[in-house]
Amino acid sequence: MPAVNTSLRQLLAGSLLLLTFAATAQTTPPAPALLLRPAAVFDGETMHPGWVVLVEGATIKAAGPAAQISAPAGARTVELPGQTLLPGLIEGHSHLLLHPYNETTWNDQVLLESQALRVARATAHARATLLAGYTTTRDLGTEGADYADVGLKQAIDQGFIPGPRLLVATRALVATGSYGPKLSVDVEVPQGAQEADGTDGIVRAVREQIGKGADIIKVYADYRWGKGEPSRPTFSQEELTLIVQTARGAGRPVVAHASTPEGMRRATLAGVETIEHGDGGTLEVFKLMKQRGVALCPTVAAGDAISQYQGWKKGQGTEPERIQQKRLSVQAARKAGVTLAVGGDVGVFRHGDNSREAELLVQEYGFSPLEVVQAQTSGNARIFHLLDRGRIQPGLLADLVAVAGDPTQQITALREVKLVVKGGVVYKE
Ligand SMILES: [Zn+2]
Repeated sequence: MPAVNTSLRQLLAGSLLLLTFAATAQTTPPAPALLLRPAAVFDGETMHPGWVVLVEGATIKAAGPAAQISAPAGARTVELPGQTLLPGLIEGHSHLLLHPYNETTWNDQVLLESQALRVARATAHARATLLAGYTTTRDLGTEGADYADVGLKQAIDQGFIPGPRLLVATRALVATGSYGPKLSVDVEVPQGAQEADGTDGIVRAVREQIGKGADIIKVYADYRWGKGEPSRPTFSQEELTLIVQTARGAGRPVVAHASTPEGMRRATLAGVETIEHGDGGTLEVFKLMKQRGVALCPTVAAGDAISQYQGWKKGQGTEPERIQQKRLSVQAARKAGVTLAVGGDVGVFRHGDNSREAELLVQEYGFSPLEVVQAQTSGNARIFHLLDRGRIQPGLLADLVAVAGDPTQQITALREVKLVVKGGVVYKE
């Protein structure tokens, strides 16, 4: 039999079919067309005051000045006065199988919580994410919950639970001995990711994850080898390159957790598409990323949350070193012209609080609201190869969110979610 080309887009198209099927199975006759009348439409790039958007079925039928668009007979008009209609927001970095570390430490979540408990919680996390206006999330690892993200994605796509469209990384890859939890050397404990090393081990692990449903391969290019140590590189250049080649052959992008210049450099040279965190990034390594077209997802909200869990009172005293370092690295990345992916590492902090990342990028890292809103819609879509969403255009998925006010002027408007539509289905109104 010829090889079947299961590209990411085809997989997503498959999911969409399932969703449409579930939606039509439950509603006879089919849902009427929707005419959305906000104060303005942000199409993923710019604001258009006075525009309206017509949704038919799962996709956007038309978008433009109100006078130019007429709704078909039987269409339902939704008035959204004072609101901005945007493409559904795209979360760049979440862990739906984790909950905030100030509730339960990461170690205890991995070691003490059953997979059933974690999945049940994750269904609530998925719902909170969607209702916060995030219609897609790149979920970067189950952290010890095996392939639970694959089932979670299926449950959402089949219409059993509300949630965003998921891109899942399944278990993620770590070099043996580099990750956690670490207890006594005398006991073997489950790790928060899959250990793999060397040519055969790595190829097998990547293929295994893809076979079980990974849309993305996530690799930890560096980590702290022991408690209290700084991060240091894990996989060799050869290993990272092999991971990328194996995944790419199967149509999957690779993303790397990396915060050391050497880990970032190796991951970039290997051909990963995004680097997560990048805390210790230097101007030199960011220039290399720029040159190779690698985006940075700085996850500023995660470090901000962890520093506060550790006792930092925001706005009082000197900032923790971790935060100061983050500022320097984000500045260097901007100077080098690296593309920004927006993702908060949600799970470290509360699901549904996703817009913290966008707020911090504006309030504390010098980005303009417009830059961040563009990055979180059309920008993330481009970086994640999601060409069917992230903009408001005829033919694209009807994944839409309306917020009170104008988030391209006031980033906090992203919190004022009034309407959420995914695939033409209204989830919040
Ligand atoms: Zn993460």
